[in-house]
Amino acid sequence: MDTKNNTAASDIRTGRLSAAQYEANFGDIHPPLSAHQALVESDRCYFCFEAPCIQACPTGIDIPSFIHKIATGNVKGSAHDILKQNIMGAVCARVCPTEVLCEGACVRNSQEHKPVAIGALQRYATDALFASGEQLFKAGPSTGKRVGVVGGGPAGLSCAHRLAMLGHSVTVFEPRSKLGGLNEYGVAAYKVTGQIPQREVDYLLAVGNIAVETGKALGREISLTQLRKDYDAVFLGVGLGAVNSLGVDESGLSGVYDAVTYIETLRQSRDLSALPVGRRIVVIGGGMTAIDIASQTKRLGAEDVTIVYRRGPQQMGASHEEQDWAQVNGVRIKHWARPLRLVAHGGALTGVELETTRLDAGGKLTGTGETATLAADMVFKAIGQVLVKDPFGDDGHLLLEMRDGRIAVDEERRTSIPGVWAGGDCVAGGQDLTVVAVEDGKRAALSIDKALQGGKG
Ligand SMILES: Cc1cc2nc3c(=O)[nH]c(=O)nc-3n(C[C@H](O)[C@H](O)[C@H](O)COP(=O)(O)OP(=O)(O)OC[C@H]3O[C@@H](n4cnc5c(N)ncnc54)[C@H](O)[C@@H]3O)c2cc1C
Ligand code: SF4
Repeated sequence: MDTKNNTAASDIRTGRLSAAQYEANFGDIHPPLSAHQALVESDRCYFCFEAPCIQACPTGIDIPSFIHKIATGNVKGSAHDILKQNIMGAVCARVCPTEVLCEGACVRNSQEHKPVAIGALQRYATDALFASGEQLFKAGPSTGKRVGVVGGGPAGLSCAHRLAMLGHSVTVFEPRSKLGGLNEYGVAAYKVTGQIPQREVDYLLAVGNIAVETGKALGREISLTQLRKDYDAVFLGVGLGAVNSLGVDESGLSGVYDAVTYIETLRQSRDLSALPVGRRIVVIGGGMTAIDIASQTKRLGAEDVTIVYRRGPQQMGASHEEQDWAQVNGVRIKHWARPLRLVAHGGALTGVELETTRLDAGGKLTGTGETATLAADMVFKAIGQVLVKDPFGDDGHLLLEMRDGRIAVDEERRTSIPGVWAGGDCVAGGQDLTVVAVEDGKRAALSIDKALQGGKG
């Protein structure tokens, strides 16, 4: 393990780059396909019978069908194929880890090691639809039923949209001023450029019959008990609002940050040159959030960025492609190490003492006793998010069954409380992906509709 000077003064500052560099670093990482490129790419699809790409898509988009429509010049029909299964298909085209989903399953991999660029084609079709301004969906005839949706992220919005199409009247409750959840506040800036999350939210709400109440949080302005009285059904899509702790003493130290909070500030910044960033960054974690904070701080001008992960590359939550992406950005990944202690000077962080780790004979992770200190002005915690403890306020007595610290749901996303459904990151057994949250919301909406058809859910 390499050691660096750990007593150097903390160096966190704004404006590390020129305006042109910020613009280049936070521009679209995957430029859109031209019409010609889209035609050529769509021509690579074999339009497989029982296509494996469909099976690999959590929302079950008929991928060969939408690609065939691009190939035959029917781009609107293509967008319809996508959005009827996944109403957030425009953002998903940009943020889905396609390499482990649809493109990972594409039969072209076995022949040419190059799948059909499904994500790029999906983006092509949905961007064209948004540019046309045409609305393909409208709210169904009113059923007279009312559903309260808690949380305006991908899960809540997908649920709301499907319910509105089925004729139910929906109210979305969201504490923040903007809808979109982590699409708006969390996903890496260079994946979702040009206000695409808000364009998608606008498109989705234009279906009609969805009221939005911002500034309203469950456990604060609203309670589950009241929602159950006021609505025929309730959907919970509150995400994960709290972060795991590092397990080392961080009290009173400046320079220790929660990655998701910093990314939120970055995503909402109009002027990235005003965002302070350290010269030397250490990121603790091994998932997508770790990759994103490391790559984005490097792109903000940090000189030296290291991800520290306690196990090997195979065990990281981030895919190989994501790990490669961090490395392409100049980020170092140090496997088999864990933080022991934060090193500080005058209350400001200057380094992180690490211990090398290994698996013992029983396969348990253990420290080797070998330590070294990595210089750092900023350390980011990216070690997973957790459900806010007791997000339901005064409703403790309602006994919402939990599993692994998240809300337990069945196949249809029903919780243990009658009339209450849940989905997205806040439920147990998911994959913490946007596309999975969208599918959860859709499934819950179909289940709610079924229940409401048969009487009060
Ligand atoms: C840094 C980061 C990067 C990511 N990058 C990707 C990526 O590239 N690709 C990908 O597929 N996935 C990515 N993910 C995961 C993805 O963003 C989530 O899986 C997805 O957003 C989950 O949707 P959700 O609706 O369940 O939760 P969220 O998106 O978290 O939305 C929950 C909503 O509920 C609201 N809420 C919270 N508490 C309350 C309350 N008490 N009352 C009412 N409302 C409440 C929140 O304000 C929010 O709007 C990333 C996650 C993070 C943290
Ligand atoms: S698996 Fe690949 S080639 Fe086959 S239908 Fe899907 S995208 Fe086309």
